[in-house]
Amino acid sequence: MSEHKQLKASVLFNIGADTSQSIIEDLDAYCSVFAEPKKDAESRSVCIGCGQAFDGFRSMFGLGVAQEWGMAHGEAFCSGCGYPSRGIHYIKDRDGEDLLTLRNVYLQYLPDESRKSHEADRAKEAL
Ligand SMILES: [Zn+2]
Repeated sequence: MSEHKQLKASVLFNIGADTSQSIIEDLDAYCSVFAEPKKDAESRSVCIGCGQAFDGFRSMFGLGVAQEWGMAHGEAFCSGCGYPSRGIHYIKDRDGEDLLTLRNVYLQYLPDESRKSHEADRAKEAL
């Protein structure tokens, strides 16, 4: 149904032969709510909501789109279409131990994840 691929840890990280299977699984589990990032011909990240390339420099001049921080810590959104993403990641393993922290790595949620909140909004409007 979705044209967007679920993000795999191997896309985001250099996973070597010495990385344990359980760590790969824990990273994959964390990544599973995010979409695999799309790139344009100039290898800029492209918003999966509106298809425009994220370009913080151009956006300072009112051109194109950029990731902007939201009200919630670590949450961001596309300045063009509002598509939600997460920019700070505190990744824990299955036992709740800190695995790693990523900052300023913007991952857009899979459409299914954002659709849930849209549908909740629509249900409220229908009342
Ligand atoms: Zn967008």
